[in-house]
Amino acid sequence: MTSTYAIIGDPIDHSLSPNIHNAAFRSLNLDSTYIAYRIPKGELAAGIEALKTIKIAGFNVTIPHKIEMIKYLDVLDDNCNLIGAVNTVSNYDGILKGYNTDMTGFLDPIKKRNLTIKDSQVILLGAGGAARAIVAAMVKEKAGKITIVNRTMENAVKLAEFTEKIGGNADMVSLQKANELIADYKFIINSTSIGMKNEQSPISTENIGKDSIVYDIVYQPINTDLVKKSKENNATVIYGYEMLLSQAASAFKIWHKIEPPYDVMKKALLGGF
Ligand code: NAP
Repeated sequence: MTSTYAIIGDPIDHSLSPNIHNAAFRSLNLDSTYIAYRIPKGELAAGIEALKTIKIAGFNVTIPHKIEMIKYLDVLDDNCNLIGAVNTVSNYDGILKGYNTDMTGFLDPIKKRNLTIKDSQVILLGAGGAARAIVAAMVKEKAGKITIVNRTMENAVKLAEFTEKIGGNADMVSLQKANELIADYKFIINSTSIGMKNEQSPISTENIGKDSIVYDIVYQPINTDLVKKSKENNATVIYGYEMLLSQAASAFKIWHKIEPPYDVMKKALLGGF
């Protein structure tokens, strides 16, 4: 019987995940298919029942369900527990197990470049769901101070509290202060959604230089204004699409228990832009 996988969220029509996973299935001749299933906010319970009825083999979870999905899980893996959000679910005989592959997905591109996180100063723009996975990843790798910059102070405070709770060292600064201090940070990470609509960089790039590592997790467009200007300043740039690809590869491995065909998945993703 064909195994069915899905991504659930809203909006979902522009998701690149079906392309990535279906290309991987084709290349390995797996009898599996991956669909996009729109579940609006407030309809998650019914959506999960529907997925169970069709014996879904596994699914990814995106905005707005990453946190609420936790309450429908039977088992949570350690990262999922730590972050308090889920992006990957497996279904074995009706037992739903949750994982969070955003954390390893975020770290992989840094590790591939052999960049050292330990004791490094980090400035993190944004304090949403993705930021929590990034903080958990950076604390796990023993980063130095993590400075949080966010539009809504209340969300920055919550993220700083979370950072301290899991053993990290956080502080918060205003955007203006961040612009002045930017050269002091080794890692400059954008986890806001600024850039998706081709907006200007969320931070001044004037003092970003060759020693800066700029990681923009926005993946569409690939070359955001922050990425373009950082490249012009000779900074090391890590692209959001790399994180997307790594988290998809991790989900593939969880579901199929075989090595994901990374290059095939990458080609499918980049072809989708
Ligand atoms: P989220 O929970 O909704 O958080 C959004 C963040 O962006 C919040 O900090 C929010 O600030 C900030 N923000 C949004 N619009 C803003 C604006 N106009 N000015 C200033 N700040 C603004 O979303 P998320 O799940 O963390 O995702 C954030 C981004 O990361 C999205 O673009 C998403 O596509 C991307 N992402 C990429 C990957 C990947 O694999 N590459 C994985 C996950 C997410 P407030 O707190 O003030 O609202």
